[in-house]
Amino acid sequence: MKYLGVIGGPGKKSLSPAFQQAALDHLQLDIVYEAWPTPPEGLEVRVGGLRAQAVLGANVTIPHKEAILPMMDELDDVVRRVGAVNTVVNREGRLCAYNTDVAGFLRALREAGQFDPAGRRAIIAGAGGAARAVVTALIEAGAASVTVINRTFARATKLVQEMRPPAGATELHALPDAYISWASAAMGADLLVNCTSVGSGSRAARKQASEEANSPVPADVIRSGVLVYDLIYRPAETPLMRAAHNRGARVLGGLPMLIYQGAESFGLWTGRAAPVEVMFEAARKALAASEGASA
Ligand code: NAP
Repeated sequence: MKYLGVIGGPGKKSLSPAFQQAALDHLQLDIVYEAWPTPPEGLEVRVGGLRAQAVLGANVTIPHKEAILPMMDELDDVVRRVGAVNTVVNREGRLCAYNTDVAGFLRALREAGQFDPAGRRAIIAGAGGAARAVVTALIEAGAASVTVINRTFARATKLVQEMRPPAGATELHALPDAYISWASAAMGADLLVNCTSVGSGSRAARKQASEEANSPVPADVIRSGVLVYDLIYRPAETPLMRAAHNRGARVLGGLPMLIYQGAESFGLWTGRAAPVEVMFEAARKALAASEGASA
C-alpha cells in the first residue's frame, strides 16, 4: 500500500481526497489519498514524513504553497517562475516540487472555456498564489497584456515586477482596486479571471453579505464580449458569475481547473493518464454533499 495526501491548513476542506481516490480506485491502484491538515508550525515535520518509502507525494494548498518551497530538494522550472508549489513527488527520499495549477488553468481555459489566450487582453483580480500561477500561464500562452488589480496594491506591483516577461512579450500592469481601474481595464479586455477568494465559502457565510459585496468586480464594467473565469469552485456559481451572466458575458467556474491540475499531479505520481471524467463525477458529488451540509 502507498500513500498520497493533501497538505492544507486545519479546517480547510479540500475536494482532492474525493476525486483523487475515485481516480486511483478506478485504475485499481493500491494507493490511499488522505487529507493531511497541517498548521504552519507543523509543516516541517509533515514534509519530513513525505520522504518515507510508502509515500508517493502530496498536493499542497492554502496556506502552505509558498512556505513549503525552501523545504524542497528540487524545483521544477514552473515552480521557480510562479514561486509556489502545489505538488510534491517523493523520488527515493528526494522531494521534487511542481506547480500543476499553471497547466490546469490553461487546459480549463482552452477546453472548458474554448478560449485561446494568445494575443488577447486579460484582467486578473487578486495577487496571491493563484494569481501568480495564472499570470505565469498567460505569459507562457502569449497573451498580449495582463492587468493585475488587487486590494493590497503593493502585492500587485510586486507580482508584476517579479514576473516581468522579456521585452516584446506580454505587457504587464498593476492597478489599485478602485472603480476607475476596473472601468478602464475592462474597456479592452477579452478575459477577466477572479483569483481572489471573494465569493467563496459556505452558504451560511455568503448569506451574511450582499451579492455585490461577494463579488470582487463592479458588475457594470463587465462587457458582453468577455469571458469571466472564476477560479472558485465552491459554490459552483458565484455572485461574479451570476453578474457576468446577467451582463451577457460567457462564464467559466473553477471546477475544470481543479480537476485538470489534479490530473496533472496524478500523472506525476503514478505515471498513468488520469481518468478525468471519473474525477469530475466524484468532485461534483462531493461538492453537492458539502453544499447540502452547509445549507
Ligand atoms: P491567497 O494567496 O490567499 O490570495 C488571496 C487573494 O484574495 C489575495 O489577492 C487577496 O487580496 C484577495 N482577497 C481576499 N479577501 C479579499 C477581500 N475581502 N476583498 C478583496 N480581495 C480579497 O489565495 P490563492 O491561493 O491565491 O487562492 C485564491 C482563490 O483561488 C481561492 O478561492 C482558491 O480556492 C482559488 N483557487 C482555485 C483553484 C482551482 O483549481 N480552481 C486553484 C488555486 C486557487 P490581498 O492581497 O489584498 O489580501
